[in-house]
Amino acid sequence: MSPQPAAVKQAVTERANGLCEYCKSPADYSPQPFSIEHIFPISAGGDSDMDNLAYACQGCNNHKYTKTRGIDPLSNHEVALFHPRQDIWGIHFGWGDGGLEIIGLTATGRATVHELQLNRKNLVNLRALLLLADLHPPME
Ligand SMILES: [Zn+2]
Repeated sequence: MSPQPAAVKQAVTERANGLCEYCKSPADYSPQPFSIEHIFPISAGGDSDMDNLAYACQGCNNHKYTKTRGIDPLSNHEVALFHPRQDIWGIHFGWGDGGLEIIGLTATGRATVHELQLNRKNLVNLRALLLLADLHPPME
C-alpha cells in the first residue's frame, strides 16, 4: 500500500473531526497515531478515493483489518459492518452506561461493536476520563 499524500490525510482527519469514525475516540487524547483506513480493502479491489477512506484509531483499524461484514450477535446473521461514508453513526450506535459504552442499535451496529470490539477496556477507561473533563461524548 502506498503512503497517502499529506493533503489526503489532512482532509480525512478534518472530515472526521479528529475522531475515530468507529469508536469516536479523539486522536488528540490517543497515545498512538490514527490511521487512514480503507473501508473496502485494497486487497479486495478497494481504491484510495475519499469515499473509501475513514479515520480510525489503531485498535479499530487492527480489529477491522479487511472485514466488511460481521455477525450480528443478536440474530447470528452476517451483515455489513458500519460504513462511515454510507451510514450515519447515530442511527447504528448509541451511548450506554452513562457514555462509557457503545451500544449497537441495529444489526450493523451490533455486528460492528462485536467485530471491532468498540468497548475495549482502554476505550472505556479513556471515556471515563474524558467524561470527567467534559470532553465526552463527542458532539457531532
Ligand atoms: Zn476507534
